[in-house]
Amino acid sequence: MIKKELIEEINKLKSEKNAIILGHCYQNPEIDEVADYVGDSLGLSKLASQTDADIIVFAGVYFMAETAKILSPNKKVLLPNKKSGCNMADMIDIKLVKEFKAKYPDLPLVCYVNSSAEVKAECDICCTSANAIEVVRSLGVKKVLFAPDCYLGSWVQKNLPDVEIISYTGYCPTHLRISPDDIKSAKEKYPNAVVLVHPECRPEVANLGDFIGSTTQIFNYVEKTDYKQYIICTEKGVVDRLKLQHKDREFVLVNDRIVCHNMKYNTLFDVLDVLKNENNEVFVDKDVAKRALNSINRMISIKSSKVTV
Ligand code: SF4
Repeated sequence: MIKKELIEEINKLKSEKNAIILGHCYQNPEIDEVADYVGDSLGLSKLASQTDADIIVFAGVYFMAETAKILSPNKKVLLPNKKSGCNMADMIDIKLVKEFKAKYPDLPLVCYVNSSAEVKAECDICCTSANAIEVVRSLGVKKVLFAPDCYLGSWVQKNLPDVEIISYTGYCPTHLRISPDDIKSAKEKYPNAVVLVHPECRPEVANLGDFIGSTTQIFNYVEKTDYKQYIICTEKGVVDRLKLQHKDREFVLVNDRIVCHNMKYNTLFDVLDVLKNENNEVFVDKDVAKRALNSINRMISIKSSKVTV
């Protein structure tokens, strides 16, 4: 089946079944051609909770589809390709999070949304990479546990020196592939470019950034500025979309290995398959979903919280 036919078939099924397709901005850009919305994980889940669609096809990784299910329990949530997991989220499970908490029994636990529903259910409050600093600050405590991303934890620590952040040891293997030398080489080639870095990067990388922010914050930064060249230190999908959105400017991926292969498993064929057969449905245990929802809602309720990833 050629791409045009695939897209037509997906759109036909979408309207017949009252479905929507949500695409994360790290997906292959071909997904955008059928997606109703493209964005960050929590922003997409919030949209999912507001839609009157019966079926949500979440083209992203598993924890994102789970979050959509938690926020929209009465909808059928489908993940196009079962192999799409998140390596960072998989670094901590229910047993490990309980052990981590047991070592520091009196401390609150902040958990990055890049985690399973069970881990979210065990934490006091969730955060995104955009609002992690605000979330920790909102707790008004001197010490806090942070999981799973130790580098996002370091970024929060740098911004809140009066709070002691005790981080779990997880990390994103994709962002770990960026080194300070990559930035230095890119800067030699593009000396006038501004460097935009995701806070999942190591501190020695983040320290070289002109701007540090979540994917949505990076898109917003580009929108509000008018530099000619940008060096982008996050997943390739962000660069692909920036190039499409701003054809008059130059976007350089800091090295060509910054690809989250888990995100790229979802194809148009997979989207068609799950729409047709309604397979790969995502379920979350009711009690776990209720407790995870509390942690998410607590984050959302923080005044002026920017709920983006
Ligand atoms: S880029 Fe990293 S954090 Fe994001 S889905 Fe891939 S492995 Fe997980």
